[in-house]
Amino acid sequence: MALKGKTAVVTGSNSGIGLGTARELARAGANVVLNSFTDRAEDHALAAALGAEFGVRAAYIKADMSQGGECRALVTQAAALMGSCDILVNNAGIQHVAPLESFPVDKWDAILAINLTSAFHTTAAALPVMRKAGWGRVVNIASAHGLTASPYKSAYVAAKHGIVGLTKVTALETAQEPITANAICPGYVLTPLVEAQIPDQMKTHGMSREDVVRNVMLERQPSKQFATVEQIGSTTVFLCSPAAEQITGTAISVDGGWTAL
Ligand code: NAD
Repeated sequence: MALKGKTAVVTGSNSGIGLGTARELARAGANVVLNSFTDRAEDHALAAALGAEFGVRAAYIKADMSQGGECRALVTQAAALMGSCDILVNNAGIQHVAPLESFPVDKWDAILAINLTSAFHTTAAALPVMRKAGWGRVVNIASAHGLTASPYKSAYVAAKHGIVGLTKVTALETAQEPITANAICPGYVLTPLVEAQIPDQMKTHGMSREDVVRNVMLERQPSKQFATVEQIGSTTVFLCSPAAEQITGTAISVDGGWTAL
């Protein structure tokens, strides 16, 4: 229970990598605050179930990560409710794919706001809380697209490169304090959203599940295996461990060799 007594706030955590990360942090003993922009009974039930499963305090706080004020309020509300905000995982993210010249402006704005600017706001709100507690960990979920590019993903690639840069600045501004900031750069991760795309792709390409996964989805992932949400979550737990005290300002790839190509 290495993280017992710490509180982790994970943005965009009612599904996928965010939920997987919250689960690994709770497994390691941290109290967790789940978040998304919805406020459904099932969101709160998810937090209650996670708390019961791992014997930690868990809460769900609704906040829309496209709104700066709500990003900051998430951190202050979480700190007021749980007593601290020791670990901040900036995970909320969306995607849209279109050629640059016809990329919808509202989609560009939303992707930049949710995937990048939200982390500026939450980090700005969290650093004073971490300084007061004398310990803090910022983990930004970037992407292989924070280090490389693909066509038709201009907003996503720009936002993910941006968050790798923001991570470095956060690390430098906290370098002489017991606070670290790092980015995790996943390749393709098997989330429910990705899983749901497989049957359609099988139809479109007339391929077996195995061929779609290997030759379409994992074309750029040399391992030919998805990363898992548990692996991303465990990497976050590692970044919160004593072994990682001198790891700050880095972008850690969990991408089956994507960025080695
Ligand atoms: P997902 O769609 O399952 O999760 C995204 C989460 O963000 C959800 O909980 C959603 O509710 C939340 N969210 C979306 N808009 C929000 C808003 N306005 N306010 C608050 N929350 C909001 O997707 P995922 O694959 O788990 O992605 C999580 C992160 O990991 C994203 O930043 C994504 O870019 C990154 N990532 C994913 C992959 C992958 O292969 N799945 C690879 C690299 C990076």
